[in-house]
Amino acid sequence: MRASQFLISTLKEAPADAEVASHKLMMRAGMIKKLGAGIYTYMPMGLRVIRKVEGIVREEMNRAGAVECAMPVIQPAELWQESGRFEKMGPELLRIRDRHERDFVVQPTSEEVVTDIARQELRSYKQLPKNLYQVQTKFRDERRPRFGLMRGREFIMKDAYSFDRDQDSAKKSYETMAQAYRRIFDRFGLRYRAVAADSGAIGGDLSEEFQVIAATGEDAIVYCPQSEYAANMEKAEALAPSAPRGPAKQAMQKVPTPGKSTCEDVAALLEVPLASTVKSIVLATDKLDAQGAPVSTQVWLLLLRGDHDMNEIKVGKVPGLDAGFRFATVAEIEAHFGTRPGYLGPIGLKQPVQIVADREVAVMADWICGANEEGFHTTGVNWGRDLPEPALVADIRNVVEGDLSPDGKGRLAIERGIEVGHIFYLGTKYSKAMEATFLDEDGKPKVFEMGCYGIGITRLPAAAIEQNHDERGIIWPDAIAPFTVVVCPIGMDRSADVKAAAQQLHDELAAAGIDVLLDDRGERPGAMFADWELIGVPHRVVISDRGLKEGQLEYQHRRDAAATKVPAGEIAGFVK
Ligand code: ATP
Ligand code: MG
Ligand code: MG
Ligand code: MG
Repeated sequence: MRASQFLISTLKEAPADAEVASHKLMMRAGMIKKLGAGIYTYMPMGLRVIRKVEGIVREEMNRAGAVECAMPVIQPAELWQESGRFEKMGPELLRIRDRHERDFVVQPTSEEVVTDIARQELRSYKQLPKNLYQVQTKFRDERRPRFGLMRGREFIMKDAYSFDRDQDSAKKSYETMAQAYRRIFDRFGLRYRAVAADSGAIGGDLSEEFQVIAATGEDAIVYCPQSEYAANMEKAEALAPSAPRGPAKQAMQKVPTPGKSTCEDVAALLEVPLASTVKSIVLATDKLDAQGAPVSTQVWLLLLRGDHDMNEIKVGKVPGLDAGFRFATVAEIEAHFGTRPGYLGPIGLKQPVQIVADREVAVMADWICGANEEGFHTTGVNWGRDLPEPALVADIRNVVEGDLSPDGKGRLAIERGIEVGHIFYLGTKYSKAMEATFLDEDGKPKVFEMGCYGIGITRLPAAAIEQNHDERGIIWPDAIAPFTVVVCPIGMDRSADVKAAAQQLHDELAAAGIDVLLDDRGERPGAMFADWELIGVPHRVVISDRGLKEGQLEYQHRRDAAATKVPAGEIAGFVK
C-alpha cells in the first residue's frame, strides 16, 4: 500500500471533548471521526485495526467450533416482546417505528433472534451442541457515551450464542469459549485478567469478564497476587460479608454509627428511588471557612448503585440527617479508604446533588458543591469556588486493598480494567420465554440450555491504546497494528536510488505477506516520522542515499530510542 493512495489525516490537537489517551490519539491519528454523540466513522486507518481484531476473533471462534452468521441490526419488536425485554429494558434499547407504525429495535445484542433461529432450525438433540456467532453492529443508547470507541452508542460486537441439550453439555460449551477467549486475548498482546462476574442467571458461577488492565478503566477488579482469585468489584462485594476484614476496614468498624444510620434511612430522607441500590453511606465532618475553603463542615458521601438519573435526587431534607448520624471525621475516612473525600464541582443544578452509580461517588460540602465523577466529566472544570483539585473518591468500597482473599491465600489487590469481553451461562432464560425446544433422545421436547459470549470489537483498539502509548502517540501491538511496517524514503523525489530501493523493499515485504505501507507522500522527514509515531506503526524502515551508499537501511521499532543500521537484505527478519 502506498500512503499517497491511502487516506491519512493526522491532527496536531485532539478535540476538547476527548479526555482519555485512546480517544485523543485515535482522533489525532485519523482513525475515527465523530458523527454524533457516541457515533463514529471508522476511517480507513482505524478500520484496518478493527479488521485485524475481527480477524483474530474469527479465527479463534472458528477454531473453537463456532459458526458465523449475521443477524439483522433492525429487529421486529415481536421477538423482543416474547422474551419480555421490549418492556423490561430501559432507554438503552433503541426502539424505532416503520411506515406501518410497527415497532422495531436496533439490536443491543441478539439473544431473541438467535433463539428464534434455534427453535426453527435445531430440532433434534443430534444437532447439538451448536454455537452461532456474528460480528455485527450494535446500538445501545448509553446514558453517557464517552471516551470515543470505548463507550460508543453504535459499536461492533462479536456475539456468540451456544445451544446445548443439558447443563453438563452447556458447561462444556462455556469452558470451550473460556479457553477460546484466553487464546484470543493472548493474541492481542495486551495485559488482561479474566475475572469472575455475577452471572445473574441460575448458572451460579459461570460468568467471566475479560478486563484489559488500564488506569482509565471504568471497572474495578479485585485479585489476589498469591492465588488465582480474580473478580470484578460487584462479584467481590457480593462475597465480601463472609470474607475476613483487612486492617483498614477494622479501623472503620470501630466508628460508631448510632440510631438510624442505615442506607434505607438515608434513601428515604433523600427521596431517592433506591430499592436495593444503596450500597453504603459514609458521613464525615469537615469545615469550610468563610471563603469556602475546606476547613470543616459536613461532608457526606453516598454510594449508590445502579442507574440513576441525577435529577431524580432531591436533597431538600438533608439537614434532617444531622440528628440521625454520627459523622465520621475526614481523617477517619482517609484512614479507612486510603483516599481523601474530594470536593467536586457543581453540576449545574440548583441544589447540591450527589449520586453515585456504581464506582462513582458524590461528595457534598456544606451544601455548596457536589458532583459525581460523571458530573465532573460532563461539565468540565466548573468550580463555583476556589476549591481544591477534585479528588475523585472513586474506590470507596466494601472490599478494599489488603482484605484477606476469599480463598484465604493472600491479601486482595485492586486495579482498574476495561471490560473487553464477557462470557455468560444463560441457562434457559430465553429458551423458556420463547418456547425454544428440541426433541431429546427420549422423543420429548426440551428447552435449550444457552450461553452467550461477547467481545467489544471496537472497544478493544481503545483498550489497547490505553495500555500502549507514549507522549508521541500510539504503539500498536503487532497483531492489531494498521500496518506492520512503514517504509520511509528520504528524498524520494530527488534520488532515483532511494525511490527504487523503497519500492523494492515494499514489494519484497508485501510478497512475504507483511502488511507494509510505503510513505511516498514526499513529506519532510520530521513531519513524516511524527505522523507514524502518532499512528503507532510498530516497525519503521528509513531509506536514505547516505545509508544506501553503505548498503544499510535504518530500522527502528516504535519502542526503540534510536535506529539500528541493518543490511538491506535483513530487514524482513526484524519485522516478523
Ligand atoms: P459495560 O459494563 O462496559 O457497559 P456491558 O457489560 O454492558 O459493558 P455486555 O453486554 O457484556 O456489555 O457486552 C459485551 C461486550 O461489548 C462488553 O464486554 C464490551 O466489550 C462491549 N461493549 C458493551 N457496551 C459497549 C459500548 N457502549 N461501546 C463499546 N463496546 C461496548
Ligand atoms: Mg453496559
Ligand atoms: Mg459490564
Ligand atoms: Mg458485560
